[in-house]
Amino acid sequence: PIASDRLYVVPVSTQGQRVGRIVLVRAPNGPRFTAADDRLLSAVAAQLGLALERVRLRREATEAEILRRTDELKSALLSAVSHDLRTPLATISAAAESLLQEDVAWSPEDRTAFAREIASEAQRLGRLVDNLLDLSRIEGGRLRPQKAWHDLSGLVEEALNRLKPITARHRVTVEIPDDLPPLLLDYVEIAQVLSNLIENAAKYTPSGTEIAIRGSRADGEVVVEVADRGPGLPPEALERVFERFYRLDGQGVQSGGTGLGLAVAKGLVEAHGGRIWAENRPDGGARFVFTL
Ligand code: ATP
Ligand code: MG
Repeated sequence: PIASDRLYVVPVSTQGQRVGRIVLVRAPNGPRFTAADDRLLSAVAAQLGLALERVRLRREATEAEILRRTDELKSALLSAVSHDLRTPLATISAAAESLLQEDVAWSPEDRTAFAREIASEAQRLGRLVDNLLDLSRIEGGRLRPQKAWHDLSGLVEEALNRLKPITARHRVTVEIPDDLPPLLLDYVEIAQVLSNLIENAAKYTPSGTEIAIRGSRADGEVVVEVADRGPGLPPEALERVFERFYRLDGQGVQSGGTGLGLAVAKGLVEAHGGRIWAENRPDGGARFVFTL
């Protein structure tokens, strides 16, 4: 143990509370601490206390700010989507109740139609809830992609399969070179990005037009694009479409969107260290591109 006359201890306090101490150990034959040392060290300890206090206050302020923004986000989300949540629910209940009516003899076609309606509205509800959950994780900073190696072509194929009912009236083409390297990504999240882009390409373009999905390689990145032959986007909307709840005028009720799809896609791509943007194609239509 070090002899106590070689130790010099100065308490560090913030707001009258001891939070630590400065401990000095004199060299075995070094000079003793003087009153001047004491004054200097007390000043250092006071400064240290103030600095610690500032750090603590700043951290508390940041936490309060995060909480406040999460709260704000939650109420914004809820008020924005309550209508979008209710509409499919109402359709589902109505169709299910119709099917359950014992005094009506539905034809097999009627039954199928009701069941189809229930299935498609339930899927829509599912997509909305997925987007909501993703968005709240993205904005709460709690997104941790679980990455593994995957082939882009498998991912695209699976997304297209799931979206078949939505893209049924479009011509979908896929162009992915065989030698595209596998990608390190969170399968569920990037599948969600693709679904959101493909769903838009189907929803905002006339039926019968082409939706082209392409993968390519550029500068050590893989570039994925979903291109359509729809109306494209006005220049001022090219960036804004990625904001949450942003929708273009005139596509209001009938398309039944919430304005979350692209905000979620952006959050997910950026959590993977990639970029996402929208362009108008010179020969007509919009193109959504992301990199991985
Ligand atoms: P959600 O995806 O949450 O169901 P949404 O489709 O309205 O709703 P986003 O996917 O974020 O929301 O798209 C935002 C807006 O961008 C859309 O409302 C639409 O106006 C416009 N948009 C998106 N994709 C296209 C596209 N391929 N062509 C033209 N406009 C598009
Ligand atoms: Mg969408």
